[in-house]
Amino acid sequence: MKGVEQRLATNRFVTDVEAHLEVDAGLDPALGRVLVAICPARVFVQEVSGRVTADAAACLECGACAVLVTQGYRWQYPRGGMGIAYREG
Ligand code: SF4
Repeated sequence: MKGVEQRLATNRFVTDVEAHLEVDAGLDPALGRVLVAICPARVFVQEVSGRVTADAAACLECGACAVLVTQGYRWQYPRGGMGIAYREG
């Protein structure tokens, strides 16, 4: 049986030129820690200064970030045909 990482590696991503998520430069660092902690794809990185950057291309489209962080952050599904194509599950 394959492990989680092996199964996730079978997914395919179509990267859009328009990012489907956006982190405000002034995002509260406490909310930034929430983003880093809850994202299963490790999309977010928080610098020592507290600033958060994101790699939208790795998003699994689970929606957890959009539910938990509603200030200083925006997320929407990628445009049609873009984003992740699941191969298992
Ligand atoms: S939707 Fe899920 S995978 Fe994508 S950035 Fe948010 S928490 Fe991470």
